[in-house]
Amino acid sequence: MRVRLDADACEGHNRCYALAPELFDVDDYGQAVVIGDGTVAAELGDKARLAVANCPEYAISLEEEDR
Ligand code: SF4
Repeated sequence: MRVRLDADACEGHNRCYALAPELFDVDDYGQAVVIGDGTVAAELGDKARLAVANCPEYAISLEEEDR
């Protein structure tokens, strides 16, 4: 599973970073960025879903992938 972030939709509330700092960071402009290539470790799946559910701009999505 990977997290994707729509930079155009992100308004910089930073809820994602607060909820899942393992997956998101904040750039110099206060916008969220995905850490690395967005791959979500198995133990971080719940946090990734939490971040998706709590983004008020619907800027975060999850991409499921078979491994
Ligand atoms: S919660 Fe959504 S809008 Fe807020 S910083 Fe994260 S991606 Fe951007």
